[in-house]
Amino acid sequence: MTQTPHVVVLGGGIIGVTSAYHLARSGCRVTLVERQDAAGMETSFANGGLVTPSMSAPWASPGLPRMLLKYLGREGSPFLVRPSALPGLMSWGLAFLAQCTETSWRRNMETTLRLCQYSREALGDLVDEVGIRYDANDNGTLHLFRDELSMQSTKRSSEIIGKLGVRYRVLDADGCAELEPALGPQIKQISGGIHYPGDEAGDAHKFTQELARFCAANGVDFRYGESVQRIEVDNGAVCAIVTDKERLQADTCLIALGNQSAALVKPLGVRLPIYPVKGYSLTFPVGGWNGAPAVPFVDDGRKMGIVRMGDRVRVAGTAEFTGYDKTLSAKRIENLRAFFFSLFPDYPHREDGEAWTGLRPTTPEGVPYLGQTPVQGLYLNTGHGHLGWTMSCGSAKVITDIITGKDPAIDLAGMLLQDR
Ligand SMILES: Cc1cc2nc3c(=O)[nH]c(=O)nc-3n(C[C@H](O)[C@H](O)[C@H](O)COP(=O)(O)OP(=O)(O)OC[C@H]3O[C@@H](n4cnc5c(N)ncnc54)[C@H](O)[C@@H]3O)c2cc1C
Repeated sequence: MTQTPHVVVLGGGIIGVTSAYHLARSGCRVTLVERQDAAGMETSFANGGLVTPSMSAPWASPGLPRMLLKYLGREGSPFLVRPSALPGLMSWGLAFLAQCTETSWRRNMETTLRLCQYSREALGDLVDEVGIRYDANDNGTLHLFRDELSMQSTKRSSEIIGKLGVRYRVLDADGCAELEPALGPQIKQISGGIHYPGDEAGDAHKFTQELARFCAANGVDFRYGESVQRIEVDNGAVCAIVTDKERLQADTCLIALGNQSAALVKPLGVRLPIYPVKGYSLTFPVGGWNGAPAVPFVDDGRKMGIVRMGDRVRVAGTAEFTGYDKTLSAKRIENLRAFFFSLFPDYPHREDGEAWTGLRPTTPEGVPYLGQTPVQGLYLNTGHGHLGWTMSCGSAKVITDIITGKDPAIDLAGMLLQDR
């Protein structure tokens, strides 16, 4: 008779909590350890909210190295490498640059898309089953272009992902305004767009907290306010998790620690190249604003998005390489504000807006680590970069299948530790 495994999930962000849900649902006993006092308080707190298979193209792309050089130290750029970060960026940076070839870009995009599409379906199933509310927005996403050049470069990735099953529609400026009348007054700034009706959006933080509550009510044991110090291994197999408060005996442990994952597994000989790429968001109240948009927007060139979430609108994005520093840069926030007001100059609460910054746990390939490590009983679900919300539910299902000895429903090539 096979025994129900007891799995200790480390990390209570969107990845840890969705994993806990699927593990518990498949009959495992689950304990989740999280250093904060609640779920979803770090990178999953105020992200862009986009659930976008349409954004499966990885950051590491053939044109990027030249762009990074051009943007070096420039505060207004979508990608900002701070010169002070360069020494700590060396080995990850070289691995990232090695992925900037046409072949790797295409392969990584296909791998990411596989997981994103599976995840999109898994999110729908989870919501049907649990019935949680998270300010979901199912209007798809509209990728907006201000010049023909950026439209052409994004059309290339749409054609590739289109062939792999992602629905999209190319629109001229009038078509964009027809889809989203809020754009009407600024339509002269826009040369066209691509609408992806299968994308969605919603508040990842609300989702994480609601799901954590559901899990707690259904038997998952949450240990909040406990910081994991180390994982103990005996004879090549996990035997305990040591926190600042206790020693938990465990033979199965899932790493979902976002940016802290690499440091925790390094002493066990597991090397995870995950870099904390900083991003920002600014959340505004709708508060009686009649011109508020309903359709989420993405500007691929600026690496920014604008998303309506219930009675709020969030602007988020940009990528900054500056190590683990979470200082809010006034200039970077100003970039988001300027982007928002350029499209919606009539927004009435201009002085408001809640600023936030978070660190995306990013791998060179843009593909997360899923599956078993060489340490028996030690599993990974981490490194989801700029698409953690999008890939969360699918990743959780995959890792649950692996831990419980079932065959995952998708091909995992490119996601496993042994493939990289
Ligand atoms: C500005 C910005 C915009 C984004 N927009 C989008 C978007 O639109 N769509 C999308 O799909 N993704 C987006 N992302 C990415 C997404 O937010 C992340 O990929 C995702 O939140 C990562 O989830 P996680 O659970 O791995 O990490 P986290 O949410 O950081 O969770 C890890 C958890 O581990 C805990 N932890 C760490 N160390 C320890 C320890 N020693 N002991 C105990 N607990 C510990 C932390 O407290 C944390 O709660 C965005 C990110 C940023 C920064």
